[in-house]
Amino acid sequence: MVHQFDKLTANQTAIENLQANEKISVMYEHEPRKFEKRGDKMITTVENLKTKELSELEADGVFVFIGFKANVSVLGDTLPALDNWGYIIADEDKKTSLPDVYAVGDIISKKYRQITTAVADGTIAAMSISKEF
Ligand SMILES: Cc1cc2nc3c(=O)[nH]c(=O)nc-3n(C[C@H](O)[C@H](O)[C@H](O)COP(=O)(O)OP(=O)(O)OC[C@H]3O[C@@H](n4cnc5c(N)ncnc54)[C@H](O)[C@@H]3O)c2cc1C
Repeated sequence: MVHQFDKLTANQTAIENLQANEKISVMYEHEPRKFEKRGDKMITTVENLKTKELSELEADGVFVFIGFKANVSVLGDTLPALDNWGYIIADEDKKTSLPDVYAVGDIISKKYRQITTAVADGTIAAMSISKEF
């Protein structure tokens, strides 16, 4: 498993299950750069993010999961301030850097993206808006 950070961010039980599985080894602080089919093998070129050194991994197959991308394109060219990962920065009241634009749910920069946190964001934004206008 190739992982960009120096530690895993899943829940502790999932991490322990993974570490207990002898078939899985983790390459920390690496990112895939190229996938190539050679014969019946998949060759993944990976970059060590610290040293920038490239190396190859040979496998029978590759499962790609690179996370999520915030769908901010719906907002057109006038985007509010975004964090480094492309999520909208909203303050405590869910206000963005654009006047009268609020943002809630998975599209905003936050630690936990769950249904309950999205719903709570919506409540906060609605109450903030009702006080403002
Ligand atoms: C695989 C998976 C499993 C999950 N499991 C859980 C779980 O067990 N428990 C939990 O609490 N959370 C879970 N989540 C997270 C949860 O689904 C999200 O946090 C939550 O749905 C966020 O709500 P949202 O309204 O911000 O976004 P969404 O639910 O993504 O809603 C956004 C909506 O906007 C629509 N949309 C997009 N573009 C446009 C457009 N241009 N015009 C009109 N509509 C548009 C989309 O079709 C969508 O319906 C899971 C997420 C995933 C991906």
